[in-house]
Amino acid sequence: MQVTRDTFNQVMVPNYNPAAMVPVRGEGSRVWDQEGIEYIDFAGGIAVNVLGHCHPELVKALAEQGSKLWHLSNVFTNEPALQLAQKLTDATFADKVYFANSGAEANEAALKLARRYALDHFGQEKDQIIAFAKGFHGRTFFTVTVGGQPAYSDGFGPKPGAIVHCEYNNLDALKALVSERTCAIMMEPMQGEGGIIVPDVAFIKGVRALCDEHNALLIFDEVQSGMGRTGKLFDYMNTGVTPDILTSAKSLGGGFPVGAMLTTDKVSASLKPGTHGSTYGGNPLACAIAEKVFDIVNTSEVLEGVLHKEALFREKLHAINEKHHVFSEIRGKGMLLGCALNDKYKGHAKDIMTAATEQGLMCLIAGMDVVRFAPSLIIPDEDIIEGLERFERGIAKFIANAE
Ligand SMILES: *Cc1c(COP(=O)(O)O)cnc(C)c1O
Repeated sequence: MQVTRDTFNQVMVPNYNPAAMVPVRGEGSRVWDQEGIEYIDFAGGIAVNVLGHCHPELVKALAEQGSKLWHLSNVFTNEPALQLAQKLTDATFADKVYFANSGAEANEAALKLARRYALDHFGQEKDQIIAFAKGFHGRTFFTVTVGGQPAYSDGFGPKPGAIVHCEYNNLDALKALVSERTCAIMMEPMQGEGGIIVPDVAFIKGVRALCDEHNALLIFDEVQSGMGRTGKLFDYMNTGVTPDILTSAKSLGGGFPVGAMLTTDKVSASLKPGTHGSTYGGNPLACAIAEKVFDIVNTSEVLEGVLHKEALFREKLHAINEKHHVFSEIRGKGMLLGCALNDKYKGHAKDIMTAATEQGLMCLIAGMDVVRFAPSLIIPDEDIIEGLERFERGIAKFIANAE
């Protein structure tokens, strides 16, 4: 059957507007489309393909588990889920893990757990969830309402209640909001979708202190920042602040859908049998792949490599900017970087992304003012260098068209 980008408009719900080309194959940090045109991938499936495309070890884990056992449901437990949970708890603050299939589902579990924990320990008055403007936590109705972009949550009828938003990186504003009614504060330790915004460590420490003062749980959404992307296994490890609940997805499965919620013994006790669940969560196929991802990512070789690659990106991006004067700032951490457009080019991130794609470079945006890169953590230096040459050609074309 012959399908093209036009087929999308005929048979797909129009909630997405994908690029003009249709990728068909990937290897490492290179991708080929239906025409055989090659691209270098700085998008990484939106911070998912943490080891690039078709990493041989992941293909092997997929094939091995694929010929052994795919699915059971949670009526039975399984070895890959238990092994992955053991490794995640050994490597983090957490004692317990709940598996889901996506970031939104991991966050949905975190929010329901926080509400139930507050009910168990403090009573039903303690139900308020504080989150941050421009935060992103997924698209289920609860998570999208907690997310700080009303445009995403409006227009679907009555929203889940007792959710308030605060300016990010503004501790005084948070102090004014938090009270004994607050059951949890949910935040990304660095905002991804909101524009690659790294808050002050003092702010994160202040959020932790306010949670402690008011018996509120601190939930870190590390769906985008986690699994090695910032050069540490999780970004909380860069900040010295430990959350009560942490969520992971995206890079966790390296391209296979899986999510996880990590928490302490004490907090986890509120998700008693029957309180929450998922048919697929903790599925052996997903967990076997995620376990292999974990084994490869959680090594000094890969984590230190991330910081080296970040330095290379920054050096080349600054050189591009000296020539073309498009960015006001290069920001972010590790392999999650944002190029914020200066006043002259604000609002044009998508045009730059399209121009880059036309030069053979896949990248992302984070809002209309920021071009975002979230490549594989093991992208070869040659691919970074060549990818940024293509990016620069895209920038030059974009500027020529804009003038
Ligand atoms: C992508 C993302 C989510 C949502 O994950 P899905 O797998 O799309 O449901 C949640 N939180 C953050 C921080 C994200 O970047």
